[in-house]
Amino acid sequence: MLPGKVQPESWREALKLMGHCPLCGGNYATDSARRLGGMGVANLVHLTCAKCQGGFMAMVMVSPAGLSSVGMVTDLNYNDAVRLHDAPEIDLDEVINGYEYLKHNWY
Ligand SMILES: [Zn+2]
Repeated sequence: MLPGKVQPESWREALKLMGHCPLCGGNYATDSARRLGGMGVANLVHLTCAKCQGGFMAMVMVSPAGLSSVGMVTDLNYNDAVRLHDAPEIDLDEVINGYEYLKHNWY
């Protein structure tokens, strides 16, 4: 990579740092990562472990200053992640309605 210039597929290089599944310790295959979207230097990536089928989502930021990432284990498979990625946010009324539903229907 040229100094000071970020290549379009640089996020794939950053994934080499996340080589192991946090659930089973299996190695991520090179084709297990798929980009869901991004903005600027930030890339939202979904990984699927070939060994346990566990999902992992990471925000990978690649800039001339370096790279960083933050991720989480998820029960979303890739298709779920694509479907929900652009879904509208849950608003406060929906959260309160969900709380009230659980409060009155908890057995
Ligand atoms: Zn795994």
